[in-house]
Amino acid sequence: MIGLGIESTAHTFSCAVIEKKGKKGKILSDVRKIYRPPEGEGIHPREASRHHIENSSIVLSDCLREAKITIKDLDLVSYAAGPGLGPCLRVGAVVARSLASYYKIPIYPVNHAIGHIELGKLLTGAKNPLVLLVSGGHTMLLAFLNKQWRVFGETLDITLGQLLDQFGRSMGFASPCGKNIEELAQKSSKYFTLPYSVKGNDVSFSGLLSSTKSIIKKNKADACFSLQETAFAMISEAVERALSFTRKKELLIVGGVAANKRLSEMLKDVCKRHNSKFFVAPQRFAGDCGSQICWTGLLESQVKSGVSLEETFVTQSWRLDTVKINY
Ligand code: AMP
Ligand code: MG
Repeated sequence: MIGLGIESTAHTFSCAVIEKKGKKGKILSDVRKIYRPPEGEGIHPREASRHHIENSSIVLSDCLREAKITIKDLDLVSYAAGPGLGPCLRVGAVVARSLASYYKIPIYPVNHAIGHIELGKLLTGAKNPLVLLVSGGHTMLLAFLNKQWRVFGETLDITLGQLLDQFGRSMGFASPCGKNIEELAQKSSKYFTLPYSVKGNDVSFSGLLSSTKSIIKKNKADACFSLQETAFAMISEAVERALSFTRKKELLIVGGVAANKRLSEMLKDVCKRHNSKFFVAPQRFAGDCGSQICWTGLLESQVKSGVSLEETFVTQSWRLDTVKINY
């Protein structure tokens, strides 16, 4: 089976082609263009969707060329139907619908967050992990039970990605800023005490964001270091509780923030204490990309022969714990 996956939930427009043989998937191509707002500003949905419209045909043709296939070789097309920004989601859906209806290819709407998890599992080999999904749109701890991902903990306000991006923007970086903060944090080891807020299995970052903004003036690198240490320690505590509770023997981190080395370092220590194996999505595939959507579409195709065009919805808020997984 050869699938095409289209991602357009937020800043990234991406198309990917994967060939599935049995349980194995080989990524033949994954092409992306990322919308970058002006420095200090967040994603503007209209501008991001304009970026996606302008780049969609070049990303699609580059993706097919790199995979050395034509549209006629495709067995299915899948697209991220949510959660995400409405104007951005619609671009991916329109491209997918056009291909599906003109070339008569089965079409699959995919939940973006499930895409992060499924690709993470494929690329790391994790079988039955506790999943930490940390991205621009999510901060969630999840375990799979009775055909659904169950949430064991999540953020009560902003996500870990939003914390990093909003803090980075207040320093003048352009979103997404996680990498800039990681680089600055590496230049410091001076810790300022900041609000640490874990409530049961949930975390809250908004107080931490305001307090860290107030110490930027002292030293930017120290502020980044202190922010990372505090936020990642909170996440580590929540992971530790969930590992004790679920007794999972694997932890998998997915989502754009999974690219952060300090976060992995701290979570590796947690896993050691719990005798659990540590897995992290490879950096190139941690953040949003077409491969996540493509692979999930291919998995769906094991149990479903696509949906009708009338059913090709987009939903801005589509929680992953409402999705029934039958494959
Ligand atoms: P996603 O929504 O999955 O594409 O993830 C995007 C988020 O990942 C943004 O909030 C980025 O700032 C964040 N991110 C990307 N690279 C890093 C990094 N090296 N460290 C921390 N956060 C990162
Ligand atoms: Mg994402």
